[in-house]
Formats: sequence, C-alpha cells, structure tokens
Amino acid sequence: MVQAQFKQKFGIPRQPGLVPEAKISIVLNQEFSPDVVRGLEDFEYIWVHFVFHDAIGEGWSELVRPPRLGGKTKKGIFATRTPHRPNHLGLSLLKLDKVITSKPITLICSGADLLDGTPIIDIKPYIAFVEAKPNAQSGFVDGIPPQLQVIWSLEVQEQLHFNQVNQKLIEQTLAQDPRPAYQNIPERIYFMQVDGFEVRFKIIENVVQIVDLIKLSE
Ligand code: SAM
Repeated sequence: MVQAQFKQKFGIPRQPGLVPEAKISIVLNQEFSPDVVRGLEDFEYIWVHFVFHDAIGEGWSELVRPPRLGGKTKKGIFATRTPHRPNHLGLSLLKLDKVITSKPITLICSGADLLDGTPIIDIKPYIAFVEAKPNAQSGFVDGIPPQLQVIWSLEVQEQLHFNQVNQKLIEQTLAQDPRPAYQNIPERIYFMQVDGFEVRFKIIENVVQIVDLIKLSE
C-alpha cells in the first residue's frame, strides 16, 4: 500500500519522474520478512505494479482522449496509459531512495504519480541495459511536456516560512499544468490538495500564480 502526498487525483503528475519531489512510501504487508527486499537497495529504480483503485468505479472504454493531445483526439486504450482500462493495472518506474528493512518494510521512492492508498501488486528492479531505450519512437507522446512558470503571490510568500511547506513539490507539480485538457479559463481559481495544504492558483497564458495556501486540518 502507498502513502503519498496526494490524497486526491487532481494534480497528481501524469507520469513518473516529472515531479522528482513527489515522494511515496510503499509499505509492504506484515507477512513479509526483510529477505524479500535483500539486494533491492543496489538498484536505483524499480518497476511498481499497482491497481488504479480509484478509477475502478469509473469504468473504461475502448477509445480515450489523452490529455497530451488536448483531449481532442481519440486513441485506442492500449495505445495510452489511462487509469480507465479493463483491468485497471498501472505500472510506474520510480526512483528508489531508501529501503527500510525493519517492520513494516518500507520502500521510499520519488518521482511518483500515485494516489495515496494505491494498492501495490508487485515490485521489480529496473535493469537499464535491458530496458532503457531512450531513442525509441514514442507515438503521440514524443518529448517532455512543456512546463509552466510558477509564481507565488506576495501574500502567500509571507506565509511560507510560518508553515512547513514543500515549495519545490508545489512548484514542480503546478509546472506540469494539472488542468483538464484544453481548459483555459484565465479567471478561474483552481484548488489542489497536496502534502496537507490546499493550494489555490490560476493560470494565465503560461504562468501559474499561486494566490492562496491553506493548511488542511489532519
Ligand atoms: N505510470 C502509470 C502507468 O503508466 O500505468 C500511471 C499513469 S496514469 C496516466 C497517472 C495518473 O493516474 C495520475 O495523474 C492520477 O491522476 C491517476 N492515478 C494515480 N494513482 C491512482 C489510483 N490509485 N487510482 C486512480 N487513479 C490514479
């Protein structure tokens, strides 16, 4: 099971590695002894197989509209990485920062794209010489998505040092443009919950302005 900074889907990075500051803990079942992770600490990345548990109730369809294409073009489900798929299985390549072998055995990872509470079904080491294909053709997702500039309003900046805010996490997340595909309403204030805060922001052209930051009660 995953413990993550994102308790809601809005704002979760769309792929692993895009937000290095997005950290998760993968807590293994109590039945496992530390033997199951012996040697894993020597790997820098792991494949994490999981269930898109919060999408199961939303079903699936054969064609989907990837956000990368602005939500305008349909692609076959198996040509995309949508959570809305027949078996709701997901696969993420995560950076393995630490292996804690005392119980509960826990893997600390970064660059995650997972919701808090995601059930993990398997973990495998990433083997670069077998799996890295940096020049492979990547269909409609060729290249890193464009990033937005993120600025904090003066009032919010003043709050930052009173609260323990992970500024980098918020900036890296908003730079990815969490808005639904093709939504461009400059006056709209969006609300994103992350790491115990509600971040309120608006996006005008390619700039995200953070207008409010509210600490959520535990
Ligand atoms: N890298 C994975 C893959 O390719 O299978 C996930 C890609 S998917 C496009 C990433 C999105 O899935 C996130 O932005 C978030 O909205 C959603 N998501 C993450 N964890 C989820 C969960 N447990 N249930 C439902 N949706 C989830």
